[in-house]
Amino acid sequence: MGLEEKLPSGFVMNTVEQAAGWVRKSSVFPATFGLACCAIEMMTTGAGRYDLARFGMEVFRGSPRQADLMIVAGRVSQKMAPVLRQVYDQMPNPKWVISMGVCASSGGMFNNYAIVQGVDHIVPVDIYLPGCPPRPEMLMDAILKLHQKIQGSKLGVNAEEAAREAEEAALNALPLIEMKGLMR
Ligand code: SF4
Repeated sequence: MGLEEKLPSGFVMNTVEQAAGWVRKSSVFPATFGLACCAIEMMTTGAGRYDLARFGMEVFRGSPRQADLMIVAGRVSQKMAPVLRQVYDQMPNPKWVISMGVCASSGGMFNNYAIVQGVDHIVPVDIYLPGCPPRPEMLMDAILKLHQKIQGSKLGVNAEEAAREAEEAALNALPLIEMKGLMR
């Protein structure tokens, strides 16, 4: 929003997009937010052995207003869901979400009324990370994949075009119930 909406399309826009993508992916600040056992692996990832500092993201921010990445680490209870959404709403745009572990992604083994069956019912998710719990190496792999996504993100008119194409692809996609074999 703002200045980027006013930029002309074409060569200038592509250059600005590449520069903005590089700057954004090199300074992702995670929110301090852990929900269950997966959070222990997330904390380990931020410590010296795995060293998130090499990506410029070692400082987990105490305020959501200073963070642009939410790592949902652990199962989300129904009681916690509105709090999670409030934290997400307080984060400035652009912002990203990693769903860490099977509990956050699908409810995992907690198939009951107390646990949200997938955090994507509450906030939009950019990366789903499998595992119970995922190892720090897996979280770092997810972060690197998120970096690729941030680097390739569009601005202004290009963003509108990308959103239109994504919506069209989603509408034309085969319904899950009709998928067979290797999900095709
Ligand atoms: S995925 Fe496993 S480690 Fe993570 S919150 Fe669920 S039970 Fe805990």
